Amino acid sequence: MNFLDHHDQQVTADMLPCAETDPEMFHSTDAKDEAFAKGVCSTCFLQVSCRQRAREERRWGTWGGETEAERAEAGYAPKY
Ligand code: SF4
Repeated sequence: MNFLDHHDQQVTADMLPCAETDPEMFHSTDAKDEAFAKGVCSTCFLQVSCRQRAREERRWGTWGGETEAERAEAGYAPKY
């Protein structure tokens, strides 16, 4: 999974907790998968900027510790 182009900062994959996990967990709407992804994001130093970028780009899945449904509730539903 490549998150490097989603951030303004210079980062390497080994700095991102999600790089060590199954990408499917971040693109699932299953509650267990979302909880897992949120837990991973909670340890990431890019959580705030990642969440904001996902909102701006109206992404699918869990980003920055925010699920797709939570993002939609905040007014940033995914593009269709
Ligand atoms: S906040 Fe989550 S999805 Fe975003 S880079 Fe960090 S671990 Fe990956």
